[in-house]
Amino acid sequence: MLTAIEPQTVEQQIIDILTEAENNVTTDIGAEQLSDIQIHTNGYVEPGCHNPPGGVVLTGDWDEKFSDRGVLEGLVSYGGVTDELVAQLVDAGAELRWSDQWKACHVCKRLLRANAHIPTWRPYYWYDKRRGFYVCRECLFDYPDAICRHRDEAISLEPAY
Ligand SMILES: [Zn+2]
Repeated sequence: MLTAIEPQTVEQQIIDILTEAENNVTTDIGAEQLSDIQIHTNGYVEPGCHNPPGGVVLTGDWDEKFSDRGVLEGLVSYGGVTDELVAQLVDAGAELRWSDQWKACHVCKRLLRANAHIPTWRPYYWYDKRRGFYVCRECLFDYPDAICRHRDEAISLEPAY
């Protein structure tokens, strides 16, 4: 008999893995990378993106980091191997995204792509420069206050796909 994966279970596994990493991280760069990781459980609002089966997406800086002396640091030095941490997170069911490219909608908390090097890609959000938050196209049209003043700007956005 098949048992459905409970999103909460995946999320708890992810939290446990990250807590373990935070308790054992050996460098400042690694600690910074770990603290940058955010857990998202509301899925995507970005057109064409399907929510992962485990329901968990992590945003963070997954790049390898080097110290001033050219020594590999950051997540790579956690437990001696970073790939191991990334593998643990993926094995547990997390989908990994870069935090400089993926942002959560301020209203619905679903993830949207903030930029892309894809010629056909168009923003599916409006960025509130003053407040510094992203609002997805779907929420923008229902949002009842100040943001409505910027609807013309939002309407000018082409649909992403
Ligand atoms: Zn939204």
